[in-house]
Amino acid sequence: MHRNRGIEDDDGGSAPVKLEGSCHCGQVRFRCEAYAPVPFLRCYCSICRKTAGGSGSAINLGAHADTLEVEGREHLGVYRARIDDGDGGCRISSGQRHFCTGCGSALWLFDPQWPELVHPHASAIDTPLPSPPERVHMLLGSKANWVQVPQGRHDRHMDGFPDESLEDWHRRHDLLGGRDGNV
Ligand SMILES: [Zn+2]
Ligand SMILES: [Zn+2]
Repeated sequence: MHRNRGIEDDDGGSAPVKLEGSCHCGQVRFRCEAYAPVPFLRCYCSICRKTAGGSGSAINLGAHADTLEVEGREHLGVYRARIDDGDGGCRISSGQRHFCTGCGSALWLFDPQWPELVHPHASAIDTPLPSPPERVHMLLGSKANWVQVPQGRHDRHMDGFPDESLEDWHRRHDLLGGRDGNV
């Protein structure tokens, strides 16, 4: 059922990229089709840093929720982050961060506000991913002080969220659906 990884260019255009992922202990395996397979966006928020980012940031990809297949669902846990509203209160994030209850690996984020999408963590993906032509570093306002952010010519920096969606970034770089030759 999984033939070639990577591009399947049926329509001369942007076929999604098939991704396979797993947790560290191997009890959870998953696959999905990504429209945004390039790991360019690093998030330095405290949720990513603490739940998914050993180097102080985490990277999410964009995939189609209806293509997600999971083995070992019974080992999944879901974390919904508590977010300080800055006003003494706290709200519960609508984002459902899925992880393995056996080993703690962060696997993907699903948010019912965007039910057609799922965001796998690049760290959980076993399929080779393309190297991004540009990196975007976001939520640097929440970055831990020990994290050193790359400052190269192809690094962009922002304290908050980027204006551009995962999809728009991939489109701008002609990498949407992985049709570019690098993928
Ligand atoms: Zn595991
Ligand atoms: Zn984050």
